[in-house]
Amino acid sequence: MNPNPNPTCFAYDAVEQLHTLPGHPENRERLQSVMALLEDRGLLDAMQAVPVSSVPRSQLHWVHAPAYVDHVQALDEAGGGHLDPDTYVVPGSYRAALASAGALIAVVDAVITGKARNGMSLMRPPGHHALPDRGMGFCLFANVALAARVAQRVHGLERILIIDWDVHHGNGTEAIFYDDPTVAFFSTHQYPYYPGTGAAEDVGQGPGRGTTMNVPLPPGVGDHGYLRIFDELLIPFAMRFQPELILVSAGYDAHWQDPLASEGLSLLGFAQLASRVRDVAETCCAGKLAIALEGGYNRTVLSYGVMNTLLALMGEEAGAEDPIGPPAYAVPDIDDIITRIKRIHHLA
Ligand SMILES: [Zn+2]
Repeated sequence: MNPNPNPTCFAYDAVEQLHTLPGHPENRERLQSVMALLEDRGLLDAMQAVPVSSVPRSQLHWVHAPAYVDHVQALDEAGGGHLDPDTYVVPGSYRAALASAGALIAVVDAVITGKARNGMSLMRPPGHHALPDRGMGFCLFANVALAARVAQRVHGLERILIIDWDVHHGNGTEAIFYDDPTVAFFSTHQYPYYPGTGAAEDVGQGPGRGTTMNVPLPPGVGDHGYLRIFDELLIPFAMRFQPELILVSAGYDAHWQDPLASEGLSLLGFAQLASRVRDVAETCCAGKLAIALEGGYNRTVLSYGVMNTLLALMGEEAGAEDPIGPPAYAVPDIDDIITRIKRIHHLA
């Protein structure tokens, strides 16, 4: 008998719906579309569901300044407001944000303790732009960074690799670990673009020098270019670092139909990226992989992108679906970018 019939897990809690603002691209309709498709395809029943609890305040302070956390809570209780022009807080946002971080932590707990082999947190608000003392870019708390700290301080892991394939640079994650050699950060992102950070020369500092790899991209790189970048840059970077756990900031806004960006990925491309990452985790760290939802603002893209990611986690990427198809435009040559980043990071 198979002792672990559902090796892939997911975390979801409807409290995420409290954080919403009509007309804002990062609203509760995003996950409603995702959950409806997963339900329709029977995937929710095919995975383990891990219960979600709020991140405790004590753990939140491992990444965030107490005064910032107080500010978010006070804004919520005062009826809402904005952390920056893009980033809203409404009554319930604080609870949703605590649960969004807690959900990824629950997936990480399940993966590290062996209850699951890998998994995904299907929660929002997203987190990769959140700084220790400031929310920005639709992000309140730094979900992935918090999960990395929990993996280290609760579970005793030493080396965590964070892969960020959201089309925007994960400036918050980078800032939190920029001088930390124990958490490596790999990011592909359109550049120059919001939030403006993520130059190839930004590689970390002090003891963390070399453990940040930024891959800034021109528009339209597409599936083939992204796979080359993963094969030629991410895999050697990961092999050199030898992580004990991999976390992913999975945005779906690098798809060619996303309204906010234009990197040219297809829905099958996301399945391929996810299966590459799964293979890296299988090679480096006994499969230990936890994925967090970040951006993605075309709801069809988001739904199928998440589904294809989960199928890849389960080793069933052959079942991935793409009702939209690939873009029609030509892709730019990325040889120079790959060569430059190999030189900056001393990769053969
Ligand atoms: Zn994004």
